[in-house]
Amino acid sequence: MEIQEIVSNQNAFFKTQQTKSLKFRKMYLEKLRDVVIKNEDLLYEAIYQDFGKSKFDTFTTELSFVLNDIDYYLKNVNSLSKPKRVRTNLSNQIGKSSIHPEPLGCVLVIGAWNYPYQLSLSPMVAALAAGNCCILKPSEIAENTMKVMAKLINDNFPSEYLYVYEGGIDETTALLKLKFDKIFFTGSTKVGKIVYKAAAEHLTPVVLELGGKSPAIVTKDADLEVAAKRIVWGKFLNAGQTCVAPDYLLVEESIHEQFLEMLRKYIVEFQYGPDAEQYTRIINRRNFDRLVKLIDKDKLYYGGNSEEKKLYIEPTLLNMINWEDEVMQEEIFGPILPVISFTNFNLALKTILDLEKPLAAYLFTRNSEEKETFTAKLSFGGGCINDVIMHLGNERLPFGGVGNSGIGNYHGKFGFDAFSHQKSVLEKATWGEPSIKYPPYTEKKLSWIRKLL
Ligand code: NAD
Repeated sequence: MEIQEIVSNQNAFFKTQQTKSLKFRKMYLEKLRDVVIKNEDLLYEAIYQDFGKSKFDTFTTELSFVLNDIDYYLKNVNSLSKPKRVRTNLSNQIGKSSIHPEPLGCVLVIGAWNYPYQLSLSPMVAALAAGNCCILKPSEIAENTMKVMAKLINDNFPSEYLYVYEGGIDETTALLKLKFDKIFFTGSTKVGKIVYKAAAEHLTPVVLELGGKSPAIVTKDADLEVAAKRIVWGKFLNAGQTCVAPDYLLVEESIHEQFLEMLRKYIVEFQYGPDAEQYTRIINRRNFDRLVKLIDKDKLYYGGNSEEKKLYIEPTLLNMINWEDEVMQEEIFGPILPVISFTNFNLALKTILDLEKPLAAYLFTRNSEEKETFTAKLSFGGGCINDVIMHLGNERLPFGGVGNSGIGNYHGKFGFDAFSHQKSVLEKATWGEPSIKYPPYTEKKLSWIRKLL
């Protein structure tokens, strides 16, 4: 079946109103949970083939997110979709006001390759929980995971409700010509702009989950051991191919040398060797070549080795970096960590403020003034104080970018809202209406209206 036909069938199916039933939504969320659990081994195998991601990392950073999302919506879909009463203002008395969350229709989710399950299935789960039909287009760059998701979903779900469409740039370009009721895109800022333009043709609302250079600042007041351990974990998880990984470090000069040594210590301790089960490979040759070029041997503090055959790049620390260096021009998206030194905390913040707003920002300190200044002055999608990445694990926090790092957000209630329209309804009584609302108008009526409004 052609994709146009599937989209048109989804539109027709949505109009039958069946997806609005909570029983229907829960039945398919449960089914999806069963499909994921029953096929865990297939899912692990596919991602391992794509970029050597371990079972441990796949469970903790991918499948557990998806399964938690399913459970969250199964538990909360009733209350999330329930109409909410709000107060009615004086001029609308006697009346009742309420907000009715309603599904949008047929939505398109476009996923990225770096967390291929989480970034495709989590938005899709939110879309289904909110009562939509959905087309999912995972990233073709992680080909095996794309294929396994297509097989499992297309074999188990009716295509007029949920369908995985496989394809690359050409297929996505064609898909974007069709009309959807929402497009949820995860990927680069460059492609995000293409998606936004295509969506504008149909006035389709979008969520754009994009990237950018996310800083981590370490001041002399930080618990340095904790900071080093958490930064090394978060930076080299998925071999640095994480949208919210700390892209670069700003370290206060007085602790700079000591801190680099601690980073090195943890890299060694965590054993990220070329054959290590716990260390992911680079996704493809193109990215491998791009990353290897960013390793400036003159600024190497630790690492720098690579093995082309295995698409392995050793965790690498670059020291004495300045803002003009090539590694500081674009999002790194790999296991290379440049370290810049600073002497004045406020000036360091000012430098970040002059750049595009990042998807994440992190601060390591025990100084409450620094914590307050960081939160009040910097604009970023989301972040942590004294940790990295972990803010994503709290479904009560919205996840999304700002400025160049994205539009809109999701996770938990925010995901449900991203795929819902908030419909306002005012219900009036048929009695008790003041005659001053209606013509003919008089000065006396106006003076009453002035008092009322
Ligand atoms: P990408 O932009 O290259 O691809 C994302 C999706 O867009 C894929 O499904 C791909 O098939 C499609 N696509 C690519 N080129 C296209 C084109 N010309 N026209 C239409 N569709 C096209 O991104 P990527 O390489 O998969 O991911 C890396 C980027 O994504 C990084 O910048 C990273 O920071 C960002 N990212 C953001 C988040 C987030 O949640 N905010 C998560 C992961 C990755």
